[in-house]
Amino acid sequence: MKNILKISAFLLLGSVLFSTTNAQKMQVVNGKSIVNPYYSRTNTQILKIPNSTWKKVLSSDLYSVARLGDTEAAFTGKYNEFDGKGTYYCAVCGNALFRSDAKFSSTCGWPSFYEPIRPKSVIYKRDESFSMVRTEVRCGRCDAHLGHVFDDGPKPTRKRFCMNSIALEYEKLKKS
Ligand SMILES: [Zn+2]
Repeated sequence: MKNILKISAFLLLGSVLFSTTNAQKMQVVNGKSIVNPYYSRTNTQILKIPNSTWKKVLSSDLYSVARLGDTEAAFTGKYNEFDGKGTYYCAVCGNALFRSDAKFSSTCGWPSFYEPIRPKSVIYKRDESFSMVRTEVRCGRCDAHLGHVFDDGPKPTRKRFCMNSIALEYEKLKKS
């Protein structure tokens, strides 16, 4: 019995280590590997972290999209034409954002979803930049800029969550 406990503890530890190394917890910042201490797949506590702190733990590409609101060039993102089955998490904080079931093929050049995984996994903000009125989509946990939402999506919601690939982190569905 003791051995079984030891083995299961070992397996559990192994899967925890695997999932952390698999995640975007490690970021290359100014050529150095940095651990992002705010990244968690389980902690749902709202984060209020200043950009000066994020700048120290996020890669410059992720920082400029997620914290400064930049947009990656159309048709360049890693998830634009990707159709794996799994879950998309916030690349900044690990918050679950979208299921692959809600992803649809869109010609806009960015990965597109018709609904978030939970209503509160994202928050919305009016965006009047570039002489347009758009609805910005941000992470509900860390307030990272993710993209925008438009009303020209498919059924059942008719929404198109147009996201920056770099702000997302995909994890393949685990076979049970
Ligand atoms: Zn986040």
